[in-house]
Amino acid sequence: MTSTDADCIFCKIVAGEVPADVLGRADHAVAIQDLNPQAPFHALVIPFDHHENAAASAAADPAVLGHLVSLADEVARAAGNDDYRLIANTGAGAGQTVFHTHLHVLAGTSRMTEALV
Ligand code: 5GP
Ligand code: ZN
Repeated sequence: MTSTDADCIFCKIVAGEVPADVLGRADHAVAIQDLNPQAPFHALVIPFDHHENAAASAAADPAVLGHLVSLADEVARAAGNDDYRLIANTGAGAGQTVFHTHLHVLAGTSRMTEALV
């Protein structure tokens, strides 16, 4: 069963109701350009199914995060970025502002070598 939220901006992008620069698609997810890029390459990988964060998506379907990582790798490499960083902000305190699961795919900046972890 597919879940959606009528008020969710990423559900609207998935449905084609809000335009986005699409970088790639897979069976269960779409990759788009971030509207407010924080690096020369900044994609968002968004599963079609609405869940509020990565853990909720994993609980609903353990395979979904694998699909997201595969699509993230595909679009990063297609843009010439073999080195990239994946981020899944979870909770407002960690910087999450859109409560529909997404992976940030960041590449192309020396800031990538800053060690947060
Ligand atoms: P979060 O802060 O939840 O981890 O990430 C949300 C991301 O979505 C932000 O980087 C923000 O720039 C991006 N974003 C928010 N609204 C839109 C939109 O309508 N279109 C696109 N392409 N990106 C969006
Ligand atoms: Zn949604």
